[in-house]
Parts: sequence; C-alpha cells; structure tokens
Amino acid sequence: MTAENGDRRPVFRALTLPHLDALLSRAGLDRHDRLRARAVAEVLPFRTNSYVVDELIDWDRAPDDPIYRLVFPQPDMLPKADVDRIAALLAQGAPPARLLEEAREVRMRLNPHPGGQRVFNTPLMDGLPIEGMQHKYPETVLFFPRQGQTCHAYCTYCFRWPQFVGEPDLRMASGDATALREYVLAHPEVTSVLITGGDPLIMSSTVLARYVEPLLDVPHLESVRIGTKALSYWPHRVLTDPDSDDLLRLFERVVRSGRNLALMGHYSHPRELGTGAAERALRRVRETGAVVRCQAPLIRGVNDRAEDWADLWRKLVALGAVPYYMFVERDTGPQDYFAVPLARAYEIFREAYAQVSGLARTVRGPIMSATPGKVQVDGVTEVNGQRAFVLHYVQARDPELVGRPFFAAYDPDARWLTDLKPLAGDGALPGVD
Ligand SMILES: *Cc1c(COP(=O)(O)O)cnc(C)c1O
Ligand code: SF4
Repeated sequence: MTAENGDRRPVFRALTLPHLDALLSRAGLDRHDRLRARAVAEVLPFRTNSYVVDELIDWDRAPDDPIYRLVFPQPDMLPKADVDRIAALLAQGAPPARLLEEAREVRMRLNPHPGGQRVFNTPLMDGLPIEGMQHKYPETVLFFPRQGQTCHAYCTYCFRWPQFVGEPDLRMASGDATALREYVLAHPEVTSVLITGGDPLIMSSTVLARYVEPLLDVPHLESVRIGTKALSYWPHRVLTDPDSDDLLRLFERVVRSGRNLALMGHYSHPRELGTGAAERALRRVRETGAVVRCQAPLIRGVNDRAEDWADLWRKLVALGAVPYYMFVERDTGPQDYFAVPLARAYEIFREAYAQVSGLARTVRGPIMSATPGKVQVDGVTEVNGQRAFVLHYVQARDPELVGRPFFAAYDPDARWLTDLKPLAGDGALPGVD
C-alpha cells in the first residue's frame, strides 16, 4: 500500500445490480451464464462492496472462490425453469414491472418466513402485536431496527433475504425504541436483547444509540447483543468511518453500565480474517470491553470443509473472539443449492472440533434454528439395532425440552428438522407436532 493510500480514509462503496455484469465477466462467466446469474439477482438481492471485491475475493479462483460464492448469484442457484423464464425476459428487454411480477412469484415459493417467525414469535403489548420484535425464548428478545435492515454486502444464502427485496409484506422492522424498552421493562424474564437485521452496524452510531441507550437502566437486563457482519464485510466501520469513534464510545457505555455487550460476529470463512483491517477491527472492538462471539451457517461451496472451520476458530481465538454457533442452512431461499445434509454437517463439525484447543470448543453445532427451537446434532449411534441421530435442544420455546437428548431415525439425506422421523416405536420428535 502506498503512503497516499495509507493516509486515505477508505470510503464505503456499494456495488449493486448495475455493476453485476462487469463483475461476472471478471469472474470469467460467459454471456449465457452471466444472463442466468442476472436472472437470479432479479429474485434474490445482490449487493457487495469495494472492500469485499478488492480485499476478500481471490479473483484468480472465481467463480469457485468461497468469498465470491458468498456474495455473487450463481446461474444455477434457483430452479432451472424459473431461471430460464426470467433470463428470457431479460434477454428480450422486458419492462421492469414484468420482471418484478415474475420475480415475486418465484419469491413466494421460496418459503420467505421459515421457522414460523411471524406467526409464533411476534410479541403482544396491550393485546396488539409489536412489529419488528420477536420473543421466542423467554430470556431473549430480538429487535429489528427499521434503519438496520440492510447489510454492507448480501450473502447469497441469507435467510433474511425477504427483508432486502423491498416486499412490504415480507418485512419485519420497527422504529420504536420506546416500545422495545417498555416491553423489556414489563418482562422481567428478559435478560438479553439481541439487536439484529440486516446489520445494525449499517446504522449511524447516533441512530443505534437511540435504540440501545434507553435499555441501559432496565434493572434486569444483563446483556445487549448486536448481530453483525460488518467486522468481515466492512471492518472500517469500527476503524475509520466518520462515526467509528462514536460507535466505540457507545460500546464502552454499555459495558460501563455493568452489562455484557456481545457483538455476534458473522464470520463464514478464515479468509475474512486475513486482512489487516479485519484484525484491527476485532482488536478495537475488544478494547471497548465488548465480547465478540462468532457464528455462521455451514454452506456448500463456501465453508464445507472441516479445515476451514478449524482454521477459522483458531484465528478467532487467537484474536480474542469466542466461537459460538455453527448453523445449518435454513429451509428458505436457495436452500436446495447451499444445503449440506445433517449427517455430513455433523462430520464436518466433529472433524473441525477435534482439531482445535478447548478454548475454541465453546462452539456448538451443527445447529438448526427451527420452529420449536435450536436443535443440535450430537452424533450418530445405534438404538435397538436402528441407526439414529442423537440430538438435543440448545434453546426451545418450551424450556422443558432444553438439554434433553432425543433420537431420530438416521437419514443420510435429511437436511432439516422437518425431514427427520422418529425411531420405529417412538412417538413424535419432542417439540414437533
Ligand atoms: C438464536 C436465537 C436467540 C438467541 O439464542 P441464544 O442461544 O441465547 O444465542 C434468540 N431468539 C431467537 C429467535 C433465536 O433464533
Ligand atoms: S450479513 Fe447476515 S443478514 Fe446480511 S446478508 Fe449476510 S446472512 Fe443476511
């Protein structure tokens, strides 16, 4: 880096649909595949940025590069007939309204609200639903601030994709900091608030503070969590952005209030920790007294090798972060394309876990964040001559289920809780009707 570049403050530059074709060319895609990838991007959101493109993607390896696959639409990510139809419309120069109509129809078939999020988790106050909030597990409330429903780049597999495509019916967000505070105050069982999105760190520090600060005098609140991928997609957010220092001061105020501030960092691949900026960003956050805990889903073609997870967890621990969850890809959007079967996910997890020191074995996985709760696959065994998965709830809507082992019939192709069947002679799986 030249001195001039070193002195220059990196400025965030989003790359969106108008830039897509040129980037696909750079990855070496021919005209046919570029058209198909663009057709996918009519349905699922596309957004990346100059840092991801210049610092994280290895263009010599694209389109197979894992970080490329993390953010770029793939020509075969959606059912072929859908891609064909939209690609044909694009080739004919169909009007935007026609494309949108087609895209909508495909979106509605992609299970936009997995896990019954809307139906089961929206809390009530005075009998009325509070939008932009979810209260699924007694101790934790999720809050989706209205201004935080976008990200510095979009992951191709994102289960929050409906938040980004501008479909009013699919959005879940609130601008009401007062409702959040009042709800938490009225619910002494809530000890943790998780601010999520999108990415809350897309918001200015002032706006984020408006949501966080009113919580700091709620006596029973023990922790504030912020779910973010900014530390990997735009680490300059905590380094040199105009309001980076304000953000770090806000973190310090939460810590000084006697509460645990956890940045739930979404890290998918060790490459994301390979830049100086990413390392400095982690260090600066930790210097505020905040804890960085890390989680990501296991995604085919992005991070489906045990070595990558072991490498990721080791690097995170070396930088003072705490590995938290390895998730199973959720049953929404392009799940068919990215899913790794549970049996394989378990092997990858175990193989990675076996390679790291106890300091990294804080991680739990593979975890399905499903309708009744978070279910961990603990292994494969034999029960009365039948092959079986051993599982347990790490979190459950019904706390009675937490931590109790249970079995399901082994199925090498099962990808989600709803694919699993009880063992012969057993009743239904716990928590599943
Ligand atoms: C994962 C999750 C939480 C937090 O669970 P922890 O096990 O405490 O990390 C809270 N609410 C919902 C809806 C979740 O999916
Ligand atoms: S960072 Fe998280 S919310 Fe944003 S696109 Fe990726 S998975 Fe989705």
